[in-house]
Amino acid sequence: MSPTRRSVLKGIASAAALAATGSPEAFAGPLPKKTSPSDAVGLLYDATRCIGCQACVVKCKEANGMPPDTGTPRGAMYDAPDDLNSKTKNIIKLYKGEDGRTSFMKAQCMHCVDPACASVCMISALYKGPRGIVAYDPGKCVGCRYCQTACPFNVPKYEWNTAFPKIVKCEMCRHLVEKGGIPACAAACPREAVIFGGLETLRADAKGRLAGEPKRYFPKVYGETDGGGTQVLYLSAAGIPFEKLGLPDLGNESGPALSENLSHAVYQGFIAPIALYAVLGFAVYRSWRSQGLGKGGEE
Ligand code: SF4
Ligand code: SF4
Repeated sequence: MSPTRRSVLKGIASAAALAATGSPEAFAGPLPKKTSPSDAVGLLYDATRCIGCQACVVKCKEANGMPPDTGTPRGAMYDAPDDLNSKTKNIIKLYKGEDGRTSFMKAQCMHCVDPACASVCMISALYKGPRGIVAYDPGKCVGCRYCQTACPFNVPKYEWNTAFPKIVKCEMCRHLVEKGGIPACAAACPREAVIFGGLETLRADAKGRLAGEPKRYFPKVYGETDGGGTQVLYLSAAGIPFEKLGLPDLGNESGPALSENLSHAVYQGFIAPIALYAVLGFAVYRSWRSQGLGKGGEE
């Protein structure tokens, strides 16, 4: 069946209209930046206060029913993990600089404002839960481990040695927080090197410490905007940048925001080809008409 003049014109008009206006959702500008809920909670770790006693590591294990990690070179007598692993959700590390300076460093899930782990999890086994805590539902997890690849802080660990493996990561002791308690690490710390509270209060507290003792601190609150913001905030000692403590320089955009905005930009890039097809379509129609084709068709 040969095309009618009306159908050709309709096709050209549709393509031109789509090129000109687009769908409001598809062609909108950058997506709005994700923020934490107003009642978000978090942790503030002040490396200048930490004495490396590991009380937080021990109490984290107790509160979360984690088995001991006796696989270190020190042998089975010691539960002394070297890093986060499938039995360890919270760890204290020691940084030693070439200049002889040292600092302790607490590592756990950062509870990102816009978490990459949740963004890539196709069945929402990892998700942004109440009060902004990034939670995990083992009943949904299929073990694809995309979250491990996506996390910029290398946090999620996998239980390779169990029959029904799960992802393991800090959930900010949400089972305690939901009942009005606080995370075990913050409860255990004898120095208040790690404290728990409302995210906005913690941000203000951290900035207040920087302003009050500028010679004591590296002049930045890590997590305020890094990687789109995290609900675990850090202060480091003067002269020890956060990269030295293993906290990467991520810029201010979250990974999911970058990839989602890129997808939108690519989609927006379809406007030019559509417009080109509309112009070409019109040229074909004119040539088609000048050759007398389509005469006698539907008007
Ligand atoms: S630190 Fe990693 S595991 Fe934790 S919320 Fe962010 S992306 Fe997810
Ligand atoms: S309990 Fe406090 S002082 Fe002790 S290692 Fe943990 S954060 Fe540091």
